[in-house]
Amino acid sequence: MFYEEKCTLCGECLMQCPYLAYPEDKAKEEFKKLINGEPSPVTSDCITCVACNMICPEGANPFDLINIRQEETGTFQFGKRFLKMFDMGTKMPSKIIKGEPDKPVMSLCLFGDMLPGVFEGKLYDGLKIGDITLQFSLSPLD
Ligand code: SF4
Ligand code: SF4
Repeated sequence: MFYEEKCTLCGECLMQCPYLAYPEDKAKEEFKKLINGEPSPVTSDCITCVACNMICPEGANPFDLINIRQEETGTFQFGKRFLKMFDMGTKMPSKIIKGEPDKPVMSLCLFGDMLPGVFEGKLYDGLKIGDITLQFSLSPLD
């Protein structure tokens, strides 16, 4: 769910997006358009990697808004960029996390702590949880 009340229109989500990497002014402008339900190239250029939900410093879940606008406009494109995202996934850095032999483990895969708090509580007591921290050092795709 996108939390509009948390959004400060800082533009970080679209500036740090590994696929769009907009300059600050454009990032702010385009995100405002998304909020207002105006046409924006973001809906067709976004490949739905969900990284911006982790990037947003306010926890506003910008991807949830982008995804709603993609559905509304039918502009999401399943193309070369999307396939390249999966290719990047296989090249992401990873590490082995040492667990305790008598305790269960759960991998959060690429999603990491996208949903903070979800895996807390009695059900997960003693569970070793591993996640992969996304590192976006690659250049934006053309
Ligand atoms: S959703 Fe988050 S990162 Fe994006 S403009 Fe709003 S506050 Fe900034
Ligand atoms: S979901 Fe991924 S590709 Fe789409 S705007 Fe967010 S970071 Fe960029």
